[in-house]
Amino acid sequence: MSSCVFCRIIAGELPASVVYEDDQCIVFMDIMPITDGHLLVVPKEHYPLVIDVPDELVMHLYKVAKMANKAIRQSDIRSEGINYFLADGVAAGQEVFHSHLHIVPRYRGDGFGLRLPKGYGKIADRAGLDAHCTIIKQNM
Ligand SMILES: [Zn+2]
Repeated sequence: MSSCVFCRIIAGELPASVVYEDDQCIVFMDIMPITDGHLLVVPKEHYPLVIDVPDELVMHLYKVAKMANKAIRQSDIRSEGINYFLADGVAAGQEVFHSHLHIVPRYRGDGFGLRLPKGYGKIADRAGLDAHCTIIKQNM
């Protein structure tokens, strides 16, 4: 038996409220919703990080996320916007190490948001941006 909670949901060993399922992925309600309608888009195969997920599957997950986004917007669930949130790694807030994408309905006053570091809001100097650009570019 897998110790991964998402693998156990996919195997039918744990309950979930499933809104969509196909041969590659499953979409179900987050058990601790940030707002009503909070969904998780989860590949059926176990990949710890999004960088482990094959490209074709990443594209499929994004396509399904768009379907879920539209479904929420067309429903009566309160939603003035939608956030996609993907935590990739411990420092990024990932808690279940089976890569997944959060779909979070948003509205004014919902209490959810990103906390930005002190000093955020200043335009960075070009030399610093270019230095980081070069480092990342070398690995693209
Ligand atoms: Zn898993």
